Amino acid sequence: MTTTVAQHTPAPSTDIASTAIDSTDTDSTDADSTNADSSDTQSSDTASTPAAKTVPERQNLLGMSREQMEAFFLSIGEKKFRAAQLMKWIHQEGSDDFAAMTNLSKPLREKLARVAEIRGPGVVYEGTSSDGTRKWVLEVEDGSYVETVLIPAENGKRRTLCVSSQVGCSLDCSFCSTGKQGFQRNLTAAEIIGQVWVAQRSVGPRRDTANRPVTNVVMMGMGEPLLNFDNVVPAMKLMLDDNGYGLSKRRVTLSTSGVVPMIDKLGDEMDVSLAISLHAATDELRNELVPINRKYNIRALLDACHRYLSKCPDNRQITIEYTLIKDVNDQQEHAEQLAALLKELPCKINLIPFNPFPNSGYETPSRNQTMRFQQWLYDLGYTATVRMTRGEDIDAACGQLVGRVKDRTKRSARYIQSVQLDAD
Ligand code: SF4
Repeated sequence: MTTTVAQHTPAPSTDIASTAIDSTDTDSTDADSTNADSSDTQSSDTASTPAAKTVPERQNLLGMSREQMEAFFLSIGEKKFRAAQLMKWIHQEGSDDFAAMTNLSKPLREKLARVAEIRGPGVVYEGTSSDGTRKWVLEVEDGSYVETVLIPAENGKRRTLCVSSQVGCSLDCSFCSTGKQGFQRNLTAAEIIGQVWVAQRSVGPRRDTANRPVTNVVMMGMGEPLLNFDNVVPAMKLMLDDNGYGLSKRRVTLSTSGVVPMIDKLGDEMDVSLAISLHAATDELRNELVPINRKYNIRALLDACHRYLSKCPDNRQITIEYTLIKDVNDQQEHAEQLAALLKELPCKINLIPFNPFPNSGYETPSRNQTMRFQQWLYDLGYTATVRMTRGEDIDAACGQLVGRVKDRTKRSARYIQSVQLDAD
């Protein structure tokens, strides 16, 4: 999937980069610890060597849904209404410090510090493009990197965050940089919502609903979100939750390449906005550009879109993403095929000039050709927006930046240095 950037495409710097755990402090204050006391430890067979202390694992609260947070508080003998208080601190204030949560009692804050933590992704790189686009490369739990991009529009009133759902992607769309990197793993709910958390902390805490640091979220970064359903849905619920980010369902968009059964499943769970990475109006061409089309063809995909819309209680449109590739899908016949294909579907079309990357084998159409394509659609009764490429000077297109830091045989400092040099 794609933003200005392309296709399906991580969070901010400074003080949030890493939350080191001081196991010494934890041990010394943990009245609930399951550890044996020191005399037990010393009487064990291993007394002659430094005993490996068992440090109780603290639960990361960042990705917990409201229900999970309530269950957590009940599990530690606290009232479940604390969940809403804590969620506001985490997601609206961007806090990761229990000691600062002054509407919680001191004993509760101390207890939380012993049994829980708020741990977001680490920031490997943060860059701001000359056009205001901000991009983060984030390090998640296993040392993998993912990307998150914040794209300002409408004089800064609209700030859309493009969020990743997987490390890499298995679907190998032929025009996509992320697809070329292969699939590593699904992100956890904490790693997904952590991207919003880091971006918001970087831009500034939410002070009121009219001035949100992040106004829109598109699940359009690295990965196919519907192939990580069990983590993406809870994360999107946190985006919508009034104690979370409080975004309206129209401002949270999931973009899919067409995992048809999961579109139906999504419609049973929630009614966020849906975008389809279509890119071709015939199966023959789409089989080449978006290989999952061989499994779920265009007809099956459009039928799933109709079923999804029928579950939405309001008038909703599907967003059709169409990456324009020179001499591949940018001719008049393609516009005519696209218009004919979509005539029954309430939709809007986003045209995205292909964002080149090394060895892609594709080229970007000229600006004139892009405008011609838009005009052909207009003449056929469609208003199509052209998404201008943003953040080019910081490799804002999906997967490009991580692609450059992927080679783990080099030290990350060198990657970052090279990226910064390019961004200057
Ligand atoms: S390869 Fe994956 S990330 Fe890239 S466009 Fe296809 S589904 Fe999206």
